Amino acid sequence: MTRTVFLDRDGTLNREQGFVTKPQELEVLPGAADAVRRLHDAGFRIVVVTNQSGIARGLYTESDLAAIHDVLHERLLRLPTAYLHCPHHPEGSFGYGGACVCRKPAAGLLFQAKELLGVAFEGGALVGDSARDLLMARGLPLRTIHVRSGKPVQHERAVLAHEGLTVDHEAADLAGAVDWLLASR
Ligand SMILES: [Mg+2]
Ligand SMILES: [Zn+2]
Repeated sequence: MTRTVFLDRDGTLNREQGFVTKPQELEVLPGAADAVRRLHDAGFRIVVVTNQSGIARGLYTESDLAAIHDVLHERLLRLPTAYLHCPHHPEGSFGYGGACVCRKPAAGLLFQAKELLGVAFEGGALVGDSARDLLMARGLPLRTIHVRSGKPVQHERAVLAHEGLTVDHEAADLAGAVDWLLASR
């Protein structure tokens, strides 16, 4: 069985900067591509799962996001299997407003991956910089790793504590997360 690592995007793979609205704004974090390569070489499938409510807010379009992900895919050595996103926002518009099941912390994107790609959760992991990312794995057989490379860490830790979620590991960045994952298999 191929194990899958789900990666958040902003603050995990690229610099957290609010919204990335065009490819030129994308800044892949140092060491991220190498970490992705190490995961791939260790036999993990890689799936990016990301909230992109900028679409519902009218800041960029689905086709802008596709162009951003084309560039990200190149920078990540074309190794991730898929990039799944939630374009919605509860107060959004442009056809993407209202409640949905895919906006993290809901687990919809994980189940999309299961349906579209036939991935299993068992033996896999989820890496993210925000509590919202990690909460999506609640109740699923995924190891959770909180990385400190994005959102202010104290706040995210407090949210996790408030929600009663204990992550399996905390690392400085994706490279540290991969070190731990590969050592603890
Ligand atoms: Mg993030
Ligand atoms: Zn959604």
